[in-house]
Amino acid sequence: MKSLFGDCFLCGNHKKVRSPKMKYSGEGRKEILIMGEAPGEEEDQQGRQFVGASGKLLRAVLRECGYEPDRDFWFFNSVNCRTMNERGGNRTPTDKEIGHCFHKVRDTVLFLQPKIIFSLGSIPLKIFLNNYLSSKKSISEVRGTPLVNGDFGCWVLPSFHPSYVLRNPDEKELRNIFIRDIASLKSLSRKELEERLKINRGFTYEYKNRKKVNEFLIDVSFNRKTTVSIDFETTNLSPYR
Ligand code: URA
Repeated sequence: MKSLFGDCFLCGNHKKVRSPKMKYSGEGRKEILIMGEAPGEEEDQQGRQFVGASGKLLRAVLRECGYEPDRDFWFFNSVNCRTMNERGGNRTPTDKEIGHCFHKVRDTVLFLQPKIIFSLGSIPLKIFLNNYLSSKKSISEVRGTPLVNGDFGCWVLPSFHPSYVLRNPDEKELRNIFIRDIASLKSLSRKELEERLKINRGFTYEYKNRKKVNEFLIDVSFNRKTTVSIDFETTNLSPYR
């Protein structure tokens, strides 16, 4: 059945890669989810997130900060098949690809229920802090400031993508800033900060025509684990048009 929440095979990337539709990895002992862009070549070969050059930097800094990466964190990506350019190199995922993969990301985050999403680069921010990004702020302006994501009931802490740190070796301060962002995950995990989270995990969908409403009702009737509240607005609308 066609899912209302998007069809991840629509972008066709799964046909071109070795590890299609990669699942999250890591044990997540600290209940922190590290979100990247998309798997690169090395990740696609091994079927695990963050094992290539930028992953090695990320993991080294996590260890410097006293963490055991695979035990303490979960790792996942905004798009879960490798995205390639015509020459077979890695490419930044498009908004369309992010949209097709969204239901997978949403289901995974709702399943894991992380306390913090450590968001690397601007791509995951399109999912978790879209309003913030549409204010046209650059990643340098938003990094290091934790914000609450009401849909998922967790903190989102934006930082640079480690590949950005790697691409700018002369900017020594970048690595230190990246270390500081990772170090700040500890204070964000404090119990009292959990109180500030409005635990209100849920999504609002708005449909303005009958066909969409019908599709929605059929879709939710197949998903018995979800609680759904429906509100029909009938004033000032012509629902059958
Ligand atoms: N870059 C990402 O964004 N994700 C990975 O898994 C690897 C590299």
